[in-house]
Amino acid sequence: ELADIGVTGLAVMGRNLARNLARHGYAVAVHNRSAGRTKELVETFGGEGTFLPAEELKDFVASLKRPRRAIIMVKAGAGTDAVIDQLAELMEPGDMIVDGGNALFTDTRRREAALRERGLHFVGTGISGGEEGALNGPSIMPGGSAESWEALGPILQDISAKVDGVPCATHVGPDGAGHFVKMVHNGIEYADMQLIAESYDLLRQGLGATPAELAEIFREWNTGELESYLIEITAEVLAQVDAETGAPFVDVVVDQAEQKGTGRWTVQSALDLGVPVTGIAEAVFARALSGHPEQRAAARGLEGPSVSGVAGRELIEDVRQALYASKIVAYAQGFDQMAAASKEYGWDVDPGAMATIWRGGCIIRARFLDRIRQAYDGAELPTLLADPYFADALAVAQESWRRVVTTAVSIGVPTPGFSSALAYYDALRRDRLPAALVQGLRDFFGAHTYHRVDREGAFHTDWSGDRAEHPA
Ligand code: NDP
Repeated sequence: ELADIGVTGLAVMGRNLARNLARHGYAVAVHNRSAGRTKELVETFGGEGTFLPAEELKDFVASLKRPRRAIIMVKAGAGTDAVIDQLAELMEPGDMIVDGGNALFTDTRRREAALRERGLHFVGTGISGGEEGALNGPSIMPGGSAESWEALGPILQDISAKVDGVPCATHVGPDGAGHFVKMVHNGIEYADMQLIAESYDLLRQGLGATPAELAEIFREWNTGELESYLIEITAEVLAQVDAETGAPFVDVVVDQAEQKGTGRWTVQSALDLGVPVTGIAEAVFARALSGHPEQRAAARGLEGPSVSGVAGRELIEDVRQALYASKIVAYAQGFDQMAAASKEYGWDVDPGAMATIWRGGCIIRARFLDRIRQAYDGAELPTLLADPYFADALAVAQESWRRVVTTAVSIGVPTPGFSSALAYYDALRRDRLPAALVQGLRDFFGAHTYHRVDREGAFHTDWSGDRAEHPA
């Protein structure tokens, strides 16, 4: 018997993905660099379906039906290149290599181009949902050729999460599109978590609420428009009590947030594309700031405001509104980044389809994504903020949002996510921006020229001479 598909790299993600495939009735070839993991998988979960274990990569490839479909789930980076090279040597034109790791999209573009030369399909695929998602249904974001999607799509849709019967897997676009979209997904996840953390901090400091009380507030929020996986698990984490000390779990965790890099990649790419993703950037920087204990220790004695804990219970609803509004901004920015990259690389990514496949299986799954799907449904939307549903939500939230930022500033609680999102909102809706003055300054010191509001063409003022204006 030959396998329908193979998985090489059987750490948590690969093992669970292989089990998911087997549970759906596919015969799965399995391989890992060190054979112990392969053996363990078959011994422990062999009863769940058909596994074809192989110790050597050549036997793994030989056990696959043609055209061959092999998924790589190894540590992203040099390991991925090594495995791709070995697989490519063993494969034949028309075969498909799927990279399900968190690869940088530019690496995926390079690998896809190299394998295309050899007649192989390379499918860089975002897979979200962590180990639980990989087992029970992740959100899957494959890039690559249309031909490879034809051969892989039905399997990927089969094992993906479903929302209202719709699979959370779709063809994103050519070459690096899938990994790009997964990267932005992770960036949005950073922003979402930062906004949740600010909400927690502000309510805890402003109201003096305990983590247990805050858990209740988040649980309540999860029944409304904020309903999402991240809000749900925030309630769980805040309710957790440390078994050893009896203290709230959040109080025994070191307050330095780590990162594996996809948030940073998102911001780096956004800088190149010229897209302001302030929500994601503030989240990445907030994690970076938390990770500098020496600076924090040195700054601890700096003067703060004289007021503290001034707020009444109405702060709760205000923070909920600020969280929702800031979240809308963060998503709007992330979708802008996908649109910009899609244009730059000719991917033709469908934003509504991305919102659709993020509704389930992934970390940012939320009720709200269905609204985003509807907003992009057939509409050319310059910004999500202009969609009538979101414009209304922002109109309802904005007074609360302003009060929240004002309160945060007055009691000295840092809310870079809320504040920068509000600044973005206010900047975007302005008739005139002070960018006009910036242009004037640039023309003054560097003769960089400017455009006029009333005439076509570029102009320069002779600042060091008679200050007369000339066409540039
Ligand atoms: P790890 O990232 O911890 O990688 C371990 C696996 O990679 C092992 O199977 C290991 O083999 C293999 N490996 C490492 N280097 C090489 C190499 N040079 N040649 C061959 N095999 C190698 O595993 P995870 O399961 O956590 O993640 C797999 C991929 O999925 C990663 O790219 C990750 O970014 C991505 N991902 C992870 C998520 C998660 O929640 N963990 C979520 C979404 C994506 P060996 O056993 O022999 O050491």
